[in-house]
Amino acid sequence: MTRKDFFLTTVGLPLLNMELKAFENEIIGNTYAAAIMPVLFVGHGSPMNAIENNTITQNWAKLGRELPVPKAILCISAHWQTQGTKVTAMEHPKTIHDFGGFPKALFDAQYPAPGSPEFAQLTIEEFQSGHVNKDFEWGLDHGTWSVLKPMFPKANIPTFQLSLDYTATLAQHIEIAKHLQNLRKKGVLIIGSGNIVHNLGLLNWEGKPFDWAIEFDETVKNKIINNDLNALVNYNKLGKTATLSIPTEEHYIPLLYTLALKQNNEQANFFNETIEMGSISMRSLKIG
Ligand code: ZN
Repeated sequence: MTRKDFFLTTVGLPLLNMELKAFENEIIGNTYAAAIMPVLFVGHGSPMNAIENNTITQNWAKLGRELPVPKAILCISAHWQTQGTKVTAMEHPKTIHDFGGFPKALFDAQYPAPGSPEFAQLTIEEFQSGHVNKDFEWGLDHGTWSVLKPMFPKANIPTFQLSLDYTATLAQHIEIAKHLQNLRKKGVLIIGSGNIVHNLGLLNWEGKPFDWAIEFDETVKNKIINNDLNALVNYNKLGKTATLSIPTEEHYIPLLYTLALKQNNEQANFFNETIEMGSISMRSLKIG
């Protein structure tokens, strides 16, 4: 019996669907996972976002309040590359401060979310090939916790990571990502964390975005809207703006994981559509 049936037959409330919906929203709020969890791509940018209050982090916080509460969070971060795909399976992942030259306050910051050995196991079971292995060494790198600290500040949702296999082609990454689809139905919020435009060698400290960065960011936006995943996998055919925006692929690949999980009837909704320090696109999207 569904909740709706329960109210209609057992309690006998003559609620119309709309009224019932309003009732559910009022009473239940967002404390139950949706039938299928949204999936996110988040442009994470500077690690300082972990402890700063700015427009970017305010939007993350807002999203954290609005999303159905996930049963677990699976993050695919630009900052964890391994040979073969791994999934963190420890009970208590450590907060990894994988950066240098930042203030002590950032090194002092912790994100003590529990891990999820159970969902790590379920993730592995989605891959019949057996090519995904458990990891007990990693933890939560800043691609994960610098976003989650503002988004889910209580750090009470079990969180685990899937690594990027540095031997895989972009087309193979898409195939790996598709195995994660069922986790959405099990209440797992999947987050790809990287940056669409990410060129640290060409930062503009005055902040003005480079024309090529604006152009490529816009190109990617349009390809996403048009569901042209093929063009995004073959980004190196998109010209000079692409090669300037993606000098290395690790910050771009998490976007492909997110897009591979988009169902036909779903739309991508963009947020944080800005470019920081000339060459870091913060463009983010929510699907579902
Ligand atoms: Zn990064």
